[in-house]
Amino acid sequence: MSYVPENFGSLVFDDRVMKANLSAKVYASVKKTIDEGAKLDIGVANAVANAMKEWAVENGATHYTHWFQPLTGITAEKHDSFIAPSPDGGVIMEFSGKELIKGEPDASSFPSGGLRATFEARGYTAWDPTSYAFIKGKTLCIPTAFCSYGGEALDKKTPLLRSMDALNKQALRILRLFGNDSVKCVRSNVGPEQEYFLVDKKMYDKRPDLRFTGRTLFGAKPPKGQQMNDHYFGVIPPRVAAYMEELNDELWKLGILAKTEHNEVAPAQHELAPIYSTTNIATDHNQLTMEIMQRVALRHGLVCLLHEKPFAGVNGSGKHNNWSINTDTGLNLLSPGETPYENAQFLLLLCAVIKAVDDYQDLLRISVATAGNDHRLGANEAPPAVVSIFLGDELNAVLEAIETDSPYKGAEKTQMKLGVDVLPKFNRDTTDRNRTSPFAFTGNKFEFRMLGSSNSIACANIMLNSAVAESLKIFADTLEKAEDFEAELHELIKNTIRQHKNIIFNGNGYDDEWIKEATEKRGLLNYRTTPDCMPHLLDAKNADMLISHGVFSEAELKSRCEIMLDNYCKTVVIEADTMVEMAKTLIIPAIEEYSLEAAKAARAKKAVNETLPCSYENKLIKKLSNLTDSIASKADELDGALCDIRGIEDVVEQSCAIRDILLDRMDALRRPCDEAEKLTAKKYWPFPTYGDLLFGVN
Ligand code: ADP
Ligand code: MG
Repeated sequence: MSYVPENFGSLVFDDRVMKANLSAKVYASVKKTIDEGAKLDIGVANAVANAMKEWAVENGATHYTHWFQPLTGITAEKHDSFIAPSPDGGVIMEFSGKELIKGEPDASSFPSGGLRATFEARGYTAWDPTSYAFIKGKTLCIPTAFCSYGGEALDKKTPLLRSMDALNKQALRILRLFGNDSVKCVRSNVGPEQEYFLVDKKMYDKRPDLRFTGRTLFGAKPPKGQQMNDHYFGVIPPRVAAYMEELNDELWKLGILAKTEHNEVAPAQHELAPIYSTTNIATDHNQLTMEIMQRVALRHGLVCLLHEKPFAGVNGSGKHNNWSINTDTGLNLLSPGETPYENAQFLLLLCAVIKAVDDYQDLLRISVATAGNDHRLGANEAPPAVVSIFLGDELNAVLEAIETDSPYKGAEKTQMKLGVDVLPKFNRDTTDRNRTSPFAFTGNKFEFRMLGSSNSIACANIMLNSAVAESLKIFADTLEKAEDFEAELHELIKNTIRQHKNIIFNGNGYDDEWIKEATEKRGLLNYRTTPDCMPHLLDAKNADMLISHGVFSEAELKSRCEIMLDNYCKTVVIEADTMVEMAKTLIIPAIEEYSLEAAKAARAKKAVNETLPCSYENKLIKKLSNLTDSIASKADELDGALCDIRGIEDVVEQSCAIRDILLDRMDALRRPCDEAEKLTAKKYWPFPTYGDLLFGVN
């Protein structure tokens, strides 16, 4: 492997490359666009495009693409080569500012939830200069936003950038109130921890369920799963270590700060965490990371599973979204400060987050809702579907003291008077970390833990940024009018704690008692499934907020709701279809073959000695025969349900029918199949078992 610092970012058109390859004037102008969102003129764009092309061609690129994130959840690209004919019959390599700034992919096959029908047939991509261009294979990839001609966002980047703007605008108002005039820009930062499974490619290929749906739809529990907890942080097997080494190398070349890697709780499960960066870049990098994880795995004869629940009965995979708010001057606004004044500002920001999470629990839940993630949330392995905040004892005590105007029971036992007293340092609690909370304060950032491993982190951060912007807006509206700033601030913080303390929960989020308390006593929302939560995206409270901050238009919200539900329906229908097919064409024939073998054995024994009872074979054949009958009838019932569901036009109705009928029937079909697996000789079973898959990579 090459020397790391030399190669880090070697495939990225980053600040270093721009500085070296652009004139001082052009560089300054691009910097202004990146840092302050200033408009870019075509002359500058031409100069940048030319430098980009020269650099890309030098590094082996022949093509360029506008790289974007349509609502499919993955990234999309359409490659164009740089070549242009020259008069002498040869070619020259060309790339103009116009081509850099705007592209027109044929967008008709991307999901638009009716947007393009309402507006324009075509979509266009627009350069996002805040995320660096990079080379993948032989292609220069230019991060872009994807919109319809009516200006409606057809991607995840556009609303994310808008939500960052909204947060910036409102946070600046607050900072000004605290007398901070030097900060020019406030941005949220994110470090997403990514979980994944690695399985052997040869085994994967034998399982249609993995190939078509990314998860196993059948599989009896192996004798050993994760009971021993011996995988977590365990020694990394050589094949996996070789994979991680190459993965890191690839990610580093792309300027992705891959930092931490370890085994996770389930066998064959691992985690990768990068060093955090600006939300927009973190999102692009996470999409790239997922893509490269899968690509590098193939080179090692492995498949990287990003599905939230590849195996029943062992932990699924999530993604922890570590989120903080930072200034261009290097201040983390979620970090308790050194002076009383900074503390007051910290507490106000903290309250803004608490209020945001309480007021928009549903939006946070919606932002992580997919068919895959529905298997995880609330299954005693991931946070429940109920959103709550963990603050830790120390911070909790501070808030209680403020709320009740009573002495803070910390080390100093002082009265917590804002603007006068210094807060204790909330050191990151390493001994008593609460890993069961959906939304945990971890010293200077919040860790939102409900995301699924395959989710784009864009959605969660769009909601988080917007909801916090809304809290800050309400706070700024009040404080800007205040006659006595400090008194008003104190009241505001106190009232916010009082109104929203219901969302704070420091106990065990996996406990059933908590769900009871949360829903019955505290009135928190518990949307168990995607069909339960998704329609609430359009509730007036939510739509009004998102529209007022310019994050979404009404049409965009409607289209997103429809696309997400449609996606849910298609995902589960494909799973159900795959189950029927596997049951009928693989599982039943395998059982039949084995039964025949057992019958043959009995006949052979009888031929030797007429009086042998052959009760083992008889019983086995009977059991297997009952199971095949059951499998056949359950498969037919599932098929019947699929037929009915396909006839439902309305997507909300369809998703509810899937939740209420299809999922149960899938379960019902799985049970006899898994039962049969345990009775069938291994060599007859038509695909690798859980044991093979989970312990097959060494
Ligand atoms: P863990 O939660 O597994 O113990 P760490 O706390 O070390 O791991 O880091 C988790 C992630 O949080 C990393 O991606 C890290 O870069 C990120 N992170 C650390 N500080 C911040 C911050 N201020 N803002 C956003 N993300 C952060
Ligand atoms: Mg973590």
